[in-house]
Amino acid sequence: MTTSSSDIMRILKDRTDNPLYNTSYPLSPSDWSRFNTNGPLPFNTAMPIAFYIHIPFCKRLCSFCEYSRTLLPSQELQSAYLKTLRNDIAEFMNQKPDLLLYGFDIGGGTPTSPDTQPFENLINIYRETIGRTNLSPDFEPSIESTFETLTPQKARIIADAGIHRISLGVQSSSKSVLSPLNRQTEKIETMHRTIDFARNAGIKKINLDLMYGLPGQSMESIRQDIRTIDILRPEQVTVYELRTNQLKTAYKINNRLSYDEYCFLFDELTGMGYHGVFGQNTFSMDPLDKGLSSYLRHRMFDGWQYKGFGISAQSMSHAGLSYNTGKGEVDMKHISELRTNESSCHYALPPEEVFAKYVAISGYSGGFSLKTARRLYGDCFDFDFGNIISALETEGLLTIKDDRLQLTRTGYRHYGAILSLFYAKKKGGAVNEPHRPVF
Ligand code: SF4
Repeated sequence: MTTSSSDIMRILKDRTDNPLYNTSYPLSPSDWSRFNTNGPLPFNTAMPIAFYIHIPFCKRLCSFCEYSRTLLPSQELQSAYLKTLRNDIAEFMNQKPDLLLYGFDIGGGTPTSPDTQPFENLINIYRETIGRTNLSPDFEPSIESTFETLTPQKARIIADAGIHRISLGVQSSSKSVLSPLNRQTEKIETMHRTIDFARNAGIKKINLDLMYGLPGQSMESIRQDIRTIDILRPEQVTVYELRTNQLKTAYKINNRLSYDEYCFLFDELTGMGYHGVFGQNTFSMDPLDKGLSSYLRHRMFDGWQYKGFGISAQSMSHAGLSYNTGKGEVDMKHISELRTNESSCHYALPPEEVFAKYVAISGYSGGFSLKTARRLYGDCFDFDFGNIISALETEGLLTIKDDRLQLTRTGYRHYGAILSLFYAKKKGGAVNEPHRPVF
């Protein structure tokens, strides 16, 4: 039975402004408990794969952060973590020779927070790993950093290893916004100096992260963020919306305000010459560059498989999704006993759930690829979702161009509710019953 257009619009209205519907999927971890299984997540070794390394160390712990992290421990514990990481990557590679890597991101935490020697060890792990694989022609590795932890020496180590993209967190340039969130505000001179020495070391692309929807933010503070970007002129800018699961304290996210803030950021950044598609969270000076590392680009646009190493790192393939052991604040006391390549949760997912996760990830680009949707979901994609797409198109909430389904400016206002219409579950039991969205 096909859901009518009026029913679709009614459901959409019910979900609008409900912060539960955002780019986090599944909506609740328990939604996937029935898919929980044992053993390692299988990968298709004939297809390209990306690696991600998670370094859980930070100089301070920002209260809006949802990642697994801990205050930078002793150098001995930093080295112990890296040794485990190195062994786990080697073990994975031994089982899967001749991999084709399409990307490699080092994130966290703050991967540039370790002391110089362990940091060099980390970059050597990267060097060794890519030395044992084939690299795709558009392979573009990236590392996350902060102004507080990047030094000229570390920038040189990074660039010498062939990593030419660094992503630095600014979040907000306003002290009154960041201080209550336990985050240091950087002086513009410090940011300028860091960007200069990174470029002099050979880093070709600097990305600066901004956030919107934060408590205490106002149009005036965001205007100040834009002025900061205008002064620093990084090659790329990424804007992140605060999501409802990020703050532990009671704070009600105002979806309408977040949308207005995004619109303001979009208009200002594109006005300054950055290229970006409305609804996408990345902006780039280069019109041919989507503003992402190759790992994030293929993950977001094409739904390609990736393998995460390190505490709590996520991996995904056609067969499902897994998380390594460790979550939230990391207990460093047992660091040397941790296996960073061990799944604590492995969900063997049916195609409609792999597809739904892809839609959620691709939500950061304000839409998704229909070709990828059909590959992940299966032949019945058009049958199952055709009525939803056509109802949303008729209402002017999305457009279809070539291979892309893209939310319009009006549609993006309700992006969480719209994307949720593609979150599907298999109907149990019925013979020849195609997968249908749950309403
Ligand atoms: S936001 Fe960045 S620096 Fe702050 S705790 Fe999270 S990972 Fe660390």
